[in-house]
Amino acid sequence: MSELPSKPTKAPIHAVHRLHEYRKSLSTKPFGARGKKLVRCNLCLLGELFCTCKHRQYLNTNTSFMLIMYNDEVLKPTNSGRLIADLIPDTHAFLWTRTETDTAMLALLSNPTYQPFLVFPQQYVENDQVVVEQITATSLTTEQGITKIPLLVMLDGSWREAIKMYRKSPYLQQMPVLSFAPETLATYALRKGSHDFQLGTAEVAAMALTAAQEPQNGLALSTWFDLFVESSLLGRNRRAKETLTPITEFINAFKQALKASHECAEK
Ligand SMILES: [Zn+2]
Repeated sequence: MSELPSKPTKAPIHAVHRLHEYRKSLSTKPFGARGKKLVRCNLCLLGELFCTCKHRQYLNTNTSFMLIMYNDEVLKPTNSGRLIADLIPDTHAFLWTRTETDTAMLALLSNPTYQPFLVFPQQYVENDQVVVEQITATSLTTEQGITKIPLLVMLDGSWREAIKMYRKSPYLQQMPVLSFAPETLATYALRKGSHDFQLGTAEVAAMALTAAQEPQNGLALSTWFDLFVESSLLGRNRRAKETLTPITEFINAFKQALKASHECAEK
């Protein structure tokens, strides 16, 4: 009996890698990131010594993502949107422009297979878009009893840029909004020991996965983000030696969460 090919556990190149290459081809000069002298891995954009690519692996998930990236966001080594594409197989990435809206992006948003949700703070929502705090089976089932795949739409840029993208894109004002209650945000910030609510795109996506009833995948993305932050800081020598937590602890935390994600899918 021949073995069935198992699902790919990781893509050599994913949507954000491709968008990165494309965006670079549009630039006339190289992106001036801080730490220019640092030799970076082409894929994770971390310093080569701290590259995390060998740990990158897909989660078992029923959720899809669409990243709409502001201007040169995809070129920034600090961008955490790419971490979503690292772990979620069905991730799509587009550049935002005010005037020339990508037709492939619009086609995906109106694809009947998907139910898009804009992940965005409720206080900035205009129009009368439905706002939900959880994505449940009911929110994904049509009147005809067809179950759709949740497509979580993330506006990747600073909050100011995200608000601008929202206001200037009518197509973002025609789908339900997934927004987090202040308590949920506070609990997350507390768990991470952070003192402000400036969450990275990947952290917001982790919360969105939890809201989509995939808490184990939310945790996995959150630990993948922690490993990324720690590896970036190491690359920039931003840590005093005595405060170092061994990087293996971050790797192990991610591996454990990854295992939980795969076990959960086998049940
Ligand atoms: Zn790498």
